[in-house]
Amino acid sequence: MARALEKSGNWIGWAFFADFGTALSLTFGYMFSRPVTMQYPDKEKWLPYSRYRGHHFLTRDEKGEIKCVACELCAKICPCDCIEVVPYEDATGARHPKVFEIDTARCLFCGLCEDACPADAIALGQQYEFSSYASRDLVIGRDELMRKPGKAETGGGVVGARLDTRDAVRVETDEPAGYDWWRNIRRS
Ligand code: SF4
Ligand code: SF4
Repeated sequence: MARALEKSGNWIGWAFFADFGTALSLTFGYMFSRPVTMQYPDKEKWLPYSRYRGHHFLTRDEKGEIKCVACELCAKICPCDCIEVVPYEDATGARHPKVFEIDTARCLFCGLCEDACPADAIALGQQYEFSSYASRDLVIGRDELMRKPGKAETGGGVVGARLDTRDAVRVETDEPAGYDWWRNIRRS
C-alpha cells in the first residue's frame, strides 16, 4: 500500500512539473513577443472593420437639401428611444425635420434606424471618436449630423494614421484597409 502511494505521489509530481513547464513557456513566450497594447490615440490610430457602425450622419440630395422627410419611422423603430424628430411643412407642403436629435449616449448602434428609413436619409458611418465627459454633448442635432467634416460625403470615414507625437504631426498610414489590430493577438 505504502509503495503504491509513493508511486502515485511521483506520478502527480511529474504531472505538476510538466504543467509548470508549460505555463512557464507560455509566460516567456508572451514576454518576448510583440506587445499587444496599442498606444491609442497618442501614437496610433486604426480603421475599424468595414462592418463597424459608428456615428450617424444625415444625407443630402443632389441639390444639397436634407433628404429626411421627417416621417419619424427611425424614431419609432429605435429600441432605445433615443431619436427625436419634430416635423414641419414648408410652403410647398414638403416635410422636413425642424428638430432631429440623436442621443448617442443611449444609442446601441444597432443600425435599425438606417434600415427603416424609406428615404436613405440616415446612415451610420465609421466615426468612433466622439466621446465626451458630459452626456449632454452626446445629443447630436440635425445641423451637426449634416455638417460634420466630410461626414455626408464620406460617411464619416476614419482615416487610419500613425502619429508622430514629438512633432505633433499626423502621418497618414500606408495601410489603406486600416490597421489590422487582430494581427497582434492572433497566433499562428
Ligand atoms: S442605431 Fe439603433 S439604437 Fe441607435 S439611434 Fe439607430 S435605431 Fe436607435
Ligand atoms: S431619417 Fe428617415 S426614417 Fe428618420 S424621420 Fe427622416 S426620413 Fe423618416
